[in-house]
Amino acid sequence: MPLKLADRLTRLGTETAFAVSAEAAQYVKQGKQVYPFHLGDMNIKTPENIMAATEKAMRDGKTGYCPNYGIPKLREILAENVNLSHGTHYTTENVAIQPGGKPTISKFILTMMNPGDEVLYPNPGYPIYESQIEFHGGTAVPYTYEEGKENFRLNIAAIEAKITSKTRILIVNDLHNPTGAEASQEELAALAGLAVKHDLLVLADEAYFDMRYAGTSTSLASFPGMEERTLVLYTFSKKYAMTGWRLGASLGPKLIIDAIAKISVNDESCTNHFIQYGAIEALTGDQSGHDKIIATLKERRDTCADLLNKIKGLRCYRPNATFYLFPNVTAVMKRKGMDDYEVFRRAALSEIGVSFCTRRHFGKVLPGENERYIRFAYSGIDVADIREALTLFKKWAES
Ligand code: PMP
Repeated sequence: MPLKLADRLTRLGTETAFAVSAEAAQYVKQGKQVYPFHLGDMNIKTPENIMAATEKAMRDGKTGYCPNYGIPKLREILAENVNLSHGTHYTTENVAIQPGGKPTISKFILTMMNPGDEVLYPNPGYPIYESQIEFHGGTAVPYTYEEGKENFRLNIAAIEAKITSKTRILIVNDLHNPTGAEASQEELAALAGLAVKHDLLVLADEAYFDMRYAGTSTSLASFPGMEERTLVLYTFSKKYAMTGWRLGASLGPKLIIDAIAKISVNDESCTNHFIQYGAIEALTGDQSGHDKIIATLKERRDTCADLLNKIKGLRCYRPNATFYLFPNVTAVMKRKGMDDYEVFRRAALSEIGVSFCTRRHFGKVLPGENERYIRFAYSGIDVADIREALTLFKKWAES
């Protein structure tokens, strides 16, 4: 009997950046040089103090199960830490530790969205929103970013125009993957106003909240009327270069946190126990490891943005947050005679070993989209390799 998957699997999307990684790995296996700009992973080590605290916890026997909500001490410290930057009033009971930032997306949708509900989400954006909304029977309603003078911008009026009586959830990823966009205080206030006015729940995906090179971050949860309707996605992945550890948290109203913790019991019992002691050290110990990560990334951002902007016909902003650049390559693709994103991406990978994702990896391309964009992640590639890669890319793109 041929195996047949459950019908719901037809609605499950994926993170296609991982497929690009697999493709790039094939080239590496063949002995070819590949310059990895495709995945938002980091080739930077987790700070020593975090590793030492984790190792100690493991040796001290913190190797059994722990509570499904996470260890109380970490929940308490994380609540205090987030309150400082968010102006929120979280306590231990508002925190559920998770195996990464990502699980907060699916668990929030599972707990708060009914089939048929409409969910507003950014597109281009992290592809998991679209995947999880559709998987669980919701209607994914995209809103987009527009290329402004100095950065990508939200169009608040356009977002409001998409709100209907069925809209239940607004997903916001300020400090945005893939564009690097950052909303102004006025825009954040306007988004918060929309949520309150239309009684929407909000998922604030703050994966990059602490990944910034100038200025300070503001959480949507800090605006009036927002704490009680917002779930914050927190992750240790980027801040402390811990992508492979799988450690993050959901922060928000107790009702949602309890439901999420119940899903955690069903899914994974608890998050890895001993690494939570590493996380306590991360939040309370020496921060020079984090500072070094930021300094390293800043140098890469500048190198990458400078070199990209030297390419004829290419336009690239220099965002103050995230570790992504999202250059407009409309003129470059035209010059190369390539209209299809995949043709362009594969040609760069096979001809010069420069590997990146395109706009197509960040949600379904919307009707009427004429401009073409690609995403360069500079978190997993050193400055010397950035220079080499973008020198090759310039020559290739201009030929
Ligand atoms: N949200 C966004 C916007 C992201 O870019 C990522 C990671 N690339 C995540 C969530 C997931 O983070 P984590 O690796 O901690 O699960």
